[in-house]
Amino acid sequence: MKYWLSVCLCLFVFAACNRAQNTTSGEETTSSSSKIAMEDQQYAPPSEGDIEKIEKPASEWQAELSDLEFRVLRQAGTERAFTGDLWDNKADGIYTCRGCGLPLFDSATKFKSGTGWPSFYQPLKAKYVTEKTDNSHGMSRTEVLCARCDGHLGHVFNDGPQPTGLRYCMNSVSMDFVPKEKLAQQEP
Ligand SMILES: [Zn+2]
Repeated sequence: MKYWLSVCLCLFVFAACNRAQNTTSGEETTSSSSKIAMEDQQYAPPSEGDIEKIEKPASEWQAELSDLEFRVLRQAGTERAFTGDLWDNKADGIYTCRGCGLPLFDSATKFKSGTGWPSFYQPLKAKYVTEKTDNSHGMSRTEVLCARCDGHLGHVFNDGPQPTGLRYCMNSVSMDFVPKEKLAQQEP
């Protein structure tokens, strides 16, 4: 019984997300600590005007990020569905880039997608994310990256809810979550 339950669950997840995220083996690991309780959430919005790019050699990123964060953010990997600590987060706040602290998504635009990855119908500001055609793994998808550090966040699909009809399917590990209370303290 348990076996069939898990088979059904797997099939469901596959059906919901086979276009959403790459689920091939080799880059699936569970993330370790809970970011929600972490003290080092980053919130670093850019000053007005153009976003100044952050560029660092891979070795520097590797030193700053965990293995899984590095694999997802810098090597376009994908965390396994339902393993991240933000897919089911229902708190009010802002989701920021794990790599550079750029605010990316508002919890008000998060919705339940059933995919096991945090899903949003729009970014906080269009200019905070960049989109790129991704033809890897035999699929044509649109990759979503942080506009400041070019960190891989996930993919965007056109099967999301209104008002945009878009589904930004993100990796938990690519983001930090800054709760509303904390945000108020950080804002000038
Ligand atoms: Zn970034």
